[in-house]
Amino acid sequence: MTDTSQTAAAKKPRVSCEFFPPRGDSGLAGLTRVVDKLAAFGPDFYSCTYGAGGSTRDGTHDTIRHLLSLNLDAAPHLSIGADEKDSIFALLDDYRDMGVRRIVALRGDVPSGIGRARNTHNAESLVRWIREHSGDHFHLEVAAYPEVHPEAQSPEDDLEFFARKVDAGADSAITQYFYNPHAFYDFADRAAARGLTLPLIPGIMPITNFDGIVRFSKNCGADVPRWVLKRLESLEHDEPGIRAFGIEVVTRLCEDLLRWDVPGLHFYTLNRWGATNAVCRNLGLDQRQ
Ligand code: FAD
Repeated sequence: MTDTSQTAAAKKPRVSCEFFPPRGDSGLAGLTRVVDKLAAFGPDFYSCTYGAGGSTRDGTHDTIRHLLSLNLDAAPHLSIGADEKDSIFALLDDYRDMGVRRIVALRGDVPSGIGRARNTHNAESLVRWIREHSGDHFHLEVAAYPEVHPEAQSPEDDLEFFARKVDAGADSAITQYFYNPHAFYDFADRAAARGLTLPLIPGIMPITNFDGIVRFSKNCGADVPRWVLKRLESLEHDEPGIRAFGIEVVTRLCEDLLRWDVPGLHFYTLNRWGATNAVCRNLGLDQRQ
């Protein structure tokens, strides 16, 4: 494997790590241990997901409060789902008072049976509402889809709707995960040709087990290359083998992206530190301060 330590250290890519709200105080204590393990890479911020429809409203809030109490930069996700404007404004005020400076603004996918309606607005509306209510207080991250959002009519439409979110006031974007970097390069080129200059941060999903990655990728429209699936399949009963292979694949993906000069990496940690830690160490990100 190539040694990219020097390159990564010199360029200081932005690093962020995503969590979901853990359950209860013991869950938060567990998250503190994860944060301790990731601290060597000096993540610029930690984000926490939000279940569209409000299902994790308290959990996201408590996790953000906990991360802030550890003196970390914490960014709540806010998935508009079918939430009312007033309840979103109240949450924005609360986050501002807590010291939050960054929000990941999303439409979300409201699970069936939650809320009165499904996805009554898109992320563009949420970005507009946040700017209307909170001005420039928050740095706004939005989602981008190098392999095209599953509901989009066409790549052109998807890019156009992405551009509208940017025009509405997004500062930077984090992508859905992918394992083929050329999907990202193609999207970044098309975005640049459309005049979009905001930083595009690739979302990186560590591979730690076969079933999880297959199920998750099917739901969110991420493509897992055939050779990766075949290798994972053949390692099905070899957990250490899957972990080692996953770390190698994801390290090589990140090396490729850093060589291409991406402005940062956003790790979907799934509240675990092992794989993210191994990939960041391989990339020499512990030398970036
Ligand atoms: P949008 O930007 O609104 O786009 C959704 C779809 O609608 C796209 O197909 C788009 O092309 C289309 N569209 C947009 N605007 C219009 C318009 N004006 N007219 C017609 N079509 C339009 N989900 C959660 O529930 N909670 C989370 O915490 C969460 N975190 C995420 C973090 C990241 C970095 C990413 C990449 C995704 C995350 N998701 C999360 C998943 C995300 O909510 C889903 O992918 C969701 O389906 C789309 O959200 P969006 O913000 O991209 O929506």
